Amino acid sequence: MLVTPPAVACRAGGVYNARMQDKDPLATLAWLVEAGADEATSEAPVNRLVAKAPAPVTPLAPARPVVPAALPQAMSKPTAPSPSSGADPIGDAMGAAAAASSLEALKAAMEAFEGSALKRAATNTVFADGTPLGRVMFIGEAPGRDEDRIGKPFVGRAGQLLDKMLASIGLDRTGNCYITNVINWRPPENRDPSPEEAAICLPFLRRHIELANPGLIVLLGAVAARHVMGITDGIMKTRGRWLEYRVGDAMVPVMPTLHPAYLLRQPAHKKLAWRDLQAIATRMELLRLPEPAAKGS
Ligand code: URA
Repeated sequence: MLVTPPAVACRAGGVYNARMQDKDPLATLAWLVEAGADEATSEAPVNRLVAKAPAPVTPLAPARPVVPAALPQAMSKPTAPSPSSGADPIGDAMGAAAAASSLEALKAAMEAFEGSALKRAATNTVFADGTPLGRVMFIGEAPGRDEDRIGKPFVGRAGQLLDKMLASIGLDRTGNCYITNVINWRPPENRDPSPEEAAICLPFLRRHIELANPGLIVLLGAVAARHVMGITDGIMKTRGRWLEYRVGDAMVPVMPTLHPAYLLRQPAHKKLAWRDLQAIATRMELLRLPEPAAKGS
């Protein structure tokens, strides 16, 4: 019997399609697993080899600049255009991000954005969770399988540990802190995003920070430290040190710390994260954060 398999994302970012059908369903499945396909993405196969017309680009006003302590490497435009989007996906991302005047508009712009190959393989755009009103912002790396399925950051095992870390310093994503990621679409197989994939997300992240207007930022892991602050040193060297990030006219304190997924693998390092959390708690007290406007603070 011929099987019409669902479209599935695979390691190379490609999609199994009807031409790959096999007469033996088990052999087909084995081939898919071998290729790294780990999730059904839709009921019908999609031929991604047919080029899509690039999304029209409306000329937009330039964004208010948000100046990091150092320009992240991934902000410099790669010379080769994305094979899977319009001619200038980074420029398109910058235009779309700059045009968003609220968090809701930014989320909608990202959901409508066509310039990311990651987005085409993802189930959901994972925008944020929590409330920006408390003015304490956590930035992680990228959605995993659970986050992609549910559409919220940090809902898997690492998210459960993050919730405990937050609770230890009086924070709670439903009431007084805000969580997002550098990358808003799940990289297939949870692989590291390429510099170009990150560069396409960065204009959205910078606008996201600007619109959320945090008074304190916590970077979870090396990927967030690299892309937000341009730090290429390992997280062990960077964690626990206060940095600054410009939001509008203000310099906002930034603390890089260990990613909860890393702590799940290396529980002995939880004591280092605990030290960082204590420093964050002390700084929050000084800055009177989280803001009392937030529910539950
Ligand atoms: N790890 C991250 O960095 N972000 C998530 O949303 C989930 C796991």
